[in-house]
Amino acid sequence: MNSAYQEIMESYRRQQEMNKQSRKQRKTELYAKIPRLAEVDLKMSVLGSGISQALLKSPKDSEKLLKELKKELDALKREKAVLMTDHGVPMNYLELHYNCEKCSDTGFTQTNQRCSCLTQKLISKAYEMSGIEQQLEKQNFSHFDLKVFSNAALPKEKHSQRNNMMRILAEAETFVKSFPAGKNLLFYGSSGLGKTYMCNCIAKALLDEGYSVIYQTPFSIINILEKKTFSDKDNPFVQVAYEQLFESDLLIIDDLGTETANTFTISEFYNIINARILKEKSTIISTNIKLSEISSFYNDRIDSRLKGHYEIIRFYGPDVRWENK
Ligand SMILES: [Zn+2]
Repeated sequence: MNSAYQEIMESYRRQQEMNKQSRKQRKTELYAKIPRLAEVDLKMSVLGSGISQALLKSPKDSEKLLKELKKELDALKREKAVLMTDHGVPMNYLELHYNCEKCSDTGFTQTNQRCSCLTQKLISKAYEMSGIEQQLEKQNFSHFDLKVFSNAALPKEKHSQRNNMMRILAEAETFVKSFPAGKNLLFYGSSGLGKTYMCNCIAKALLDEGYSVIYQTPFSIINILEKKTFSDKDNPFVQVAYEQLFESDLLIIDDLGTETANTFTISEFYNIINARILKEKSTIISTNIKLSEISSFYNDRIDSRLKGHYEIIRFYGPDVRWENK
């Protein structure tokens, strides 16, 4: 592949190096705190090599010796466990710790499949998502403040804006907790009501859990579709970006408007939306188009997929203009 790919693989290699370094540091610190542990570890490794030598020499004659060595080793293991427990040290403290347990920070699983963490790195690179990822640090469930929404009764609504947001928040949290359940959400309502913020919260929570997420505006998705179809077919990042529109655990199309509706995008969007429904891959779409107008701006097929397979969630109330704060 190309240099951007090599850069990603290099970042895995650096991460593995850092994992080793930090284990070394934990070990040094712990040995200083519990000197007996250093002795036990040393004895264990001496015994370990004694056992393998005995096995090499003559498996038959060494049976008795082996038995004794193993007994000694078991006693040391027990002593080590007691030492660690007494000092409140978790048993895996001196093992390597990984950012991604699934692939031990190699990018590939044991069966040599591409790990979801590598997929996400490729997605982020292909869609230049690093800016979005920074923004997600600020906009997430733990920073969600219901108080910015008015609690005043609204003339045409059953619930206040704050109550409505409370219900939406619960819905979003359920979506995350039950993920991946193949559920889809359609957020609609005029701008400035928190739709993007809610998408951010969900994206952040699922990225943190190691799911692959594409989070984009229709414009950048169309950009990829055009490159894939016309101008940049052979670019591996364009291929990943395209493939992941169908394969990623979650696709968020944020701010679907009327300006991106043309024959090309309508048929491509339909393909994506429909394929994801069939594969039970979740999609979230936020839009300011009125529900009654989706079919006239896009088409009946898209309209019926959304209304038939998406949970429709309406945002309303005064514009709080908080999304850009
Ligand atoms: Zn991984």
